Amino acid sequence: MLEVAAWNHTKKLAKQHGVDIAHQYIQDCIASYDEWVTKRGTCPGCDNFCIEQDENVFCCFVCNTRWRVSNEPQKRITRTLLPQN
Ligand SMILES: [Zn+2]
Repeated sequence: MLEVAAWNHTKKLAKQHGVDIAHQYIQDCIASYDEWVTKRGTCPGCDNFCIEQDENVFCCFVCNTRWRVSNEPQKRITRTLLPQN
C-alpha cells in the first residue's frame, strides 16, 4: 500500500513539474516490489505468507519457523533460518 501511495504522489509531482512517467514502468515497479515482499514473507517451512515481526525478521504463526532476510532490495532474497522461540 505504501509503495502504491508513493507512486501516486510521484505521479502528482511529475505532473506538476511536466515530467512524463510511463504507466507501464510504474506497473512494473509495483509488480517487482510485490514479488520482493512475497519472497521475503513466505515461510520456508510451510509456504504461509507472514508479516515482518521485527526488522528483517519473520516468524510463521502456523509452524513457528523463524527467518531473517537482507534489507537490500537489489540483493537476491535469501531466507536464513533462526532458532524458534
Ligand atoms: Zn510456516
